[in-house]
Amino acid sequence: MNLYISNSQCNLHDNGEDHPELSERTNRIQDQLIGSLLFDWFAHAQSRAATDDELALAHDPNLVKHLEASLPEKGVIEINIDTHLSPGSVIAARHAVGAVLDGIDAVHNGSAKAVFCNVRPPGHHAEYSEPQGFCLFNNVAVGAAYAFERYGYERVAIVDFDVHHGNGTESYARREPRVWFASSFEDKIYPNSEPESDIPNMVKMPLDKYSGSDEFRQAWSEKGLPALIDYKPQLIIISAGFDGHVLDPMGNLKLHENDYAWITTELVKIANTFAEGKIVSVLEGGYDLGALSMSAREHIKILFGLDF
Ligand SMILES: [Zn+2]
Repeated sequence: MNLYISNSQCNLHDNGEDHPELSERTNRIQDQLIGSLLFDWFAHAQSRAATDDELALAHDPNLVKHLEASLPEKGVIEINIDTHLSPGSVIAARHAVGAVLDGIDAVHNGSAKAVFCNVRPPGHHAEYSEPQGFCLFNNVAVGAAYAFERYGYERVAIVDFDVHHGNGTESYARREPRVWFASSFEDKIYPNSEPESDIPNMVKMPLDKYSGSDEFRQAWSEKGLPALIDYKPQLIIISAGFDGHVLDPMGNLKLHENDYAWITTELVKIANTFAEGKIVSVLEGGYDLGALSMSAREHIKILFGLDF
């Protein structure tokens, strides 16, 4: 059985008007799955809220205190550039992390093979002690740390195909040599990451502006996937961002839904070979609601073996 984890509490995070990271994103993905008659083909669960101790696996404990102390009583405040807090933001972000932890519990204890976490706010830009780039807590970094500490995993891979480089996850990989991190991203846009990796447990695949399917698949086929195979992951966590889609307003890549199906197919093969199929996929970016929901649907179809 495969598992879809969400929580309406994630909708409590409000970035205010005219901000692309909004609760409609996760709602549209779920509506797309229901409308495509896929929603009854997998199990559903409500996420738990990650505790302070769980968040401290990959964050400065003072970050949680700082965010909670900064919460507005009403309305929306900016805590960092383009990154906001509303009264429910921390509870929403705790559920986004909690979904990943629940997903890891499920694939570890065998109650699920693959998991998709339809949650927000996204996480891969969040640094150890700083929210950034629409992200409050780094959902996938806390997830990997939990797999190491709670269950004794030795090799956890984080695979990120969001149009933006996961700088917060990179920082985590610098602190945690056991994790392995691969990221394809559009070069020379936010967060303006260095294009080359200088640590052995990270693979970077910068893609030039306007790159499309060929460049994306070539980068993963020649660099990311062979390195992932060499690592022999016991668990794969995906930072599933769909903002590299040609219709997405945030980047300039020209990916299509079938590119997300392709990378998912390759990751499922590797998970089946080395990790008993264990994949926890976590929503990151994706801001054109139509492209996001269609891309996520194609990703989930392959992840859950529903491509019939
Ligand atoms: Zn992004």
